[in-house]
Amino acid sequence: MSNLSDSLASFNGRRYHVYNDWVKREHGGRLQKVSIDAGFTCPNRDGSLGVGGCSFCNNEGFSPSYLLEQREIDTQIDTGIEFMRRRYPRTKSFLAYFQSYSNTYGNLDKLKKTYDIALAHPLISGIVIGTRPDCLPDETLDYLAELATRTMVELEIGIESCSDDVLQECLRGHDFACTQDAIRRAAERGLFVTGHLLLGLPLETRDSLLDGAKALARLPVDAMKFHQLQIVRGTRLANQYRTAPESIPLLDPLTYFDAVIDVLEFLPPNIKIQRLGSEAPPTVLVSPDWGMRLDKFPALFEARLHARDTWQGRLFLDNGKGN
Ligand code: SF4
Repeated sequence: MSNLSDSLASFNGRRYHVYNDWVKREHGGRLQKVSIDAGFTCPNRDGSLGVGGCSFCNNEGFSPSYLLEQREIDTQIDTGIEFMRRRYPRTKSFLAYFQSYSNTYGNLDKLKKTYDIALAHPLISGIVIGTRPDCLPDETLDYLAELATRTMVELEIGIESCSDDVLQECLRGHDFACTQDAIRRAAERGLFVTGHLLLGLPLETRDSLLDGAKALARLPVDAMKFHQLQIVRGTRLANQYRTAPESIPLLDPLTYFDAVIDVLEFLPPNIKIQRLGSEAPPTVLVSPDWGMRLDKFPALFEARLHARDTWQGRLFLDNGKGN
């Protein structure tokens, strides 16, 4: 377990390890991610595992608008950088973020060619690859590990839940053992691994969440992203919600922040927190509408940590087994 004063000192005065603070220390400034849709699909959509996708998934709902009109990777990067420079004028370094669908789902030659296009762009200094844990064969990980000796590579693995019941209910098509295996094989090769967790999925309980937090604490993840379940148009959950809204109990902001904190307390202090939530565009959001912009989350979250007088790692047992 960590104590508060040590945590505040190592977290730059905050109660959790903020990824952006770490990036500034490690890389001397902000690294801005530019989202790319490289035209991949996923095995849960192309018929290999399923055709309808995970029950919550509508990738287009979360894609920046510039991706919806353009297909060439170069053009997407140029447009994305222009967009980010208006928002963050001092940013000098950009990462190509392969965000949409499963970006390691394809043969290795195709993957190499796709990543190379982005890495050849003069303003791109690395890549972030979002994918499912069952789309990471050893040969792909070996290639990414080799690539990481030449440029910055972050692998973002969709965990979504650590409960097999929850994963089955949302028609994910893999279990938590698959996630654990992929994370361990990636970390063994020295890859930087970010885990993506979705809180509020049907069948997730406080007990399953806490069990999951303890399991995550034992995994070699470098960073975590937290998202609240948002029901968006065009998904199976949206259909279910329309016919039986009571079957999907949705989180309010306080309950959500408390759930993130409950997980965070068990995570080791070295895990960097990349995101605290997401914001579906109003055009696709079905529910819940919190009426709160994403940029308000960090201050509210820090205030909640303060009110509960807790911090990341408070319940982490550094005994070599996590907990
Ligand atoms: S969430 Fe990911 S894995 Fe699930 S259907 Fe969407 S793209 Fe495929």
